[in-house]
Amino acid sequence: MVLKGGVLTKTGKVNRRSVFIHRDNQLLKRCTVCKQVRPLAEFNKNKSTPSGLEYFCKNCNVLRFRSYYKNNPDKCRAIANKSMHKHKDRMQARSIANHYYPIAKTCSIINCNDLGERHHEDYAKPKTIVWLCRKHHAGLCKNT
Ligand SMILES: [Zn+2]
Ligand SMILES: [Zn+2]
Ligand SMILES: [Zn+2]
Repeated sequence: MVLKGGVLTKTGKVNRRSVFIHRDNQLLKRCTVCKQVRPLAEFNKNKSTPSGLEYFCKNCNVLRFRSYYKNNPDKCRAIANKSMHKHKDRMQARSIANHYYPIAKTCSIINCNDLGERHHEDYAKPKTIVWLCRKHHAGLCKNT
């Protein structure tokens, strides 16, 4: 087995500088957080480290994230709320536009005669829409 980055040589011997531990034909790595020796599968990949793996194990990664959440609950909640709000605004704007403009018009792009969809530039203005066909809508709108 040869790992990328030359951590393992072709003969299968581990470099001295390597962070891996070779034991019972298995490669292990010590987690810098919990100090436990764990199989490589228990570490997330990280291209910026010499080993190509995270310094801490998956378990510690989860714990770190949990403690981050515990220390910054408002920040985490704000992020979750923001994406939920955006989704809600979009649903609301669409239903208002559907109600307000029940009959579909053709696409507003020059030379396009396909039937349009109601596109919002701004969900805060649900009645301000642009008619775009499916193709042009997908190309112009990052919100669909
Ligand atoms: Zn750990
Ligand atoms: Zn749109
Ligand atoms: Zn079109």
